[in-house]
Order: sequence, then C-alpha cells, then structure tokens
Amino acid sequence: MAGGGNAIRGSRVGAGPMGEAERGEAAPRQTVTYFCSHGHRSVVTFAIEAAVPESWDCPKCGLPASLDSENPPPAPKIEPYKTHLAYVKERRSETEAADILDEAVALLRSRRKAGEIIF
Ligand SMILES: [Zn+2]
Repeated sequence: MAGGGNAIRGSRVGAGPMGEAERGEAAPRQTVTYFCSHGHRSVVTFAIEAAVPESWDCPKCGLPASLDSENPPPAPKIEPYKTHLAYVKERRSETEAADILDEAVALLRSRRKAGEIIF
C-alpha cells in the first residue's frame, strides 16, 4: 500500500463544484445555500447523493455558516483569537511603555551624572 495520502486528505465533499459543473449533466447536483453571521450567502454545489453538512465555512469571511438564514451560527472560533491578539497588542504597548520609561530614566540618570561631572 502506498503511504502518501495527500490526495485523499485534500479532497472534501463538494470541494470542486466548478470542475464538477464543467463535466456536464452526468452527475446530478444539488445547490445548498449557507448563511454566516456576517450575512454572507454562500451557494455550495454538492453531488445529489452527497450528505449535505449542516454547517460550512463561509468562503468570504471564514466563519461557520449554517442552512438557517434566520439563525446563523455564532463565531466562537474568532473571539479567542481576537482576544489573544488584543492581549498581545496590550502586552506590546506595555512593553513599549516600559522601554520608553526605562529610556527616560536612563536619560535622566545620565543627565544627572553628566550634570554632576560638569558641576
Ligand atoms: Zn461570511
């Protein structure tokens, strides 16, 4: 048996709707519309015999999208990332502020020293 499973790993149900469409009417298809919480509508084409997943990643914004336009899934995946990013930003500005303070203190000390030497 061959060890490399890249092709299998990369293929996903309904991954290539364009390619399937070009092959013609041989395979019956169904189009499913997904709605994300940003209000994007994503039409995904599946083979008629394929099981339609209840949720789909919105290709426009990456949020999970559902079949129910009235009740799109929330975006729990995005929130921790944003919070983390904000945290990192806070940390960065904190560090920068500390650096600036350090510099100011060092400058003050060197000035005082210089002043003492000159005096
Ligand atoms: Zn979206």
